[in-house]
Amino acid sequence: MDGTYDIAIIGGGINGCGIARDAAGRGLFVYLCEQADLASGTSSASTKLIHGGLRYLEHLEFRLVREALMEREVLWRMAPHIIWPLRFVLPYQAGLRPAWLLRLGLFLYDHLGGRDLLPPTSTLDLTRDAAGQPLKAGQYTFGFEYSDCWVDDARLVILNARDAADRGATIRTRTKAVAADRNADLWRLTTVDCRTGSAETVQARILINAAGPWVADVLATTRQRHAPASIRLVQGSHIVIPRLYAHDRCYIFQNPDKRIIFAIPYESDFTLIGTTERDYVGDPGQVKTTPDDVEYLCQAANRYFSTAITPAEVVWTFSGVRPLYDDGASEAQAATRDYVLDLDEAGAPMLSIFGGKITTHRRLALRVLDKLDRYLPASTRARRNWSGQTPLPGGDFPVQGFAALVKDIVRDYPWLGAQQSHRLARAYGTRARAILDGATSWSSLGRDFGNGLTEVEVTYLMREEWAEEAADVLWRRSKLGLRLSAAQTMMLQSFMVQHREEFLSR
Ligand SMILES: Cc1cc2nc3c(=O)[nH]c(=O)nc-3n(C[C@H](O)[C@H](O)[C@H](O)COP(=O)(O)OP(=O)(O)OC[C@H]3O[C@@H](n4cnc5c(N)ncnc54)[C@H](O)[C@@H]3O)c2cc1C
Repeated sequence: MDGTYDIAIIGGGINGCGIARDAAGRGLFVYLCEQADLASGTSSASTKLIHGGLRYLEHLEFRLVREALMEREVLWRMAPHIIWPLRFVLPYQAGLRPAWLLRLGLFLYDHLGGRDLLPPTSTLDLTRDAAGQPLKAGQYTFGFEYSDCWVDDARLVILNARDAADRGATIRTRTKAVAADRNADLWRLTTVDCRTGSAETVQARILINAAGPWVADVLATTRQRHAPASIRLVQGSHIVIPRLYAHDRCYIFQNPDKRIIFAIPYESDFTLIGTTERDYVGDPGQVKTTPDDVEYLCQAANRYFSTAITPAEVVWTFSGVRPLYDDGASEAQAATRDYVLDLDEAGAPMLSIFGGKITTHRRLALRVLDKLDRYLPASTRARRNWSGQTPLPGGDFPVQGFAALVKDIVRDYPWLGAQQSHRLARAYGTRARAILDGATSWSSLGRDFGNGLTEVEVTYLMREEWAEEAADVLWRRSKLGLRLSAAQTMMLQSFMVQHREEFLSR
């Protein structure tokens, strides 16, 4: 090895990390730089659905919907700790989409492909079914129920990065790509360590621009004349409120503006409502939920739920910027959700990604590597289909085996309690044991930062998952930010600052 990477990737969101994993698993020498924390961009701000996208059928995006539907069970099998099935309740609303159209859409959704374990659509009598109870009495009498899946989006990114690193990839967080120059065969990528300001140059045969909403900024740093596809930035916001209803199903509500809003059980004690959709201008890193977004989402939910929610009840909001391929659609909601791969071959190749969903990241990675096939060693072809057949870290148990996994942890660590055993199993799957290994009591897990977050878990996250700041732990490796007080957060931050250097050289 001459120190030249086969592939250098800019961007540690789901697309960059998914490509890094696939490429490293094929035996390629991979480098990835992320300017902030892994998943700190759009990939932690999604609605967190592994879904076909029922609404995209209206825009005739059959290719995308079919690919996404087929990915649901593939991804579920790969990571049954952070991905699980959900049932969605779609109440019929007179005056909006007619019932025959909903039936047709759901029929296609059930039959376009890839549904093996997930139950099919059913019709609901909302006057009798528990799903009707939280809704306005007398207004919603029937509806439909269909399947999709839930994902912890940020952990999906981190597990892809972890797996890539386990397969030999170099992952550099808080490392910004600032310039890239090429000759016929090689890229020289200059990066800056955002903590220290020190610069480094790496060489790679192929450059991949997976910078999501920053894709055009990264293109500008490469100073190429090639005119690529263009990007449309569309902001989406969510609100989180205290749990609104008791059952475990989600709602998909139609809005009079033809948009749809989800209400989803979230982190046991909360309900997640989203999303908005409007064009965004500015630095994607500065995106913020506005009071108008909150008002819009409250109003959308209040059309359906009998208990009115107000902005005062919102405990958390988050916003992300969809990096959509600009297909010239007039409205943000109609812009294609499909992805476009732009290959520039005027010298050593550079591939830029426009669009892409969390759901389709694995297929996107496969297509990226297919597109670059002639630049890759022939020996890597034998591993073309490995990524969907191999679990992500901690996901090496059967899709129906989550309850058994929790039960085993409770049995082996009875002092941990059911709630913490469940939380650790959800976050880490079988790797929860790597955190608990050798622990004999609660106090043997070290300092308790609150809500069951202990020193051994935090040091695991710093050692294995690139966590450096309290926010990395509280908002991306977990959602304990919803539960820790300001004082507890400060205590965690000072612990992490104190111990950061021990892990930075990894
Ligand atoms: C509101 C909303 C809801 C969504 N809901 C869903 C959903 O339910 N299901 C679904 O499948 N998809 C959903 N999506 C889509 C999905 O979240 C995105 O398409 C996906 O996360 C994009 O991933 P990415 O890796 O391309 O971008 P990002 O996650 O933004 O990653 C790009 C990374 O590149 C880094 N970067 C940028 N410039 C540089 C540089 N110069 N050097 C180093 N690093 C750099 C950034 O810091 C960033 O982390 C949703 C999106 C939004 C906004």
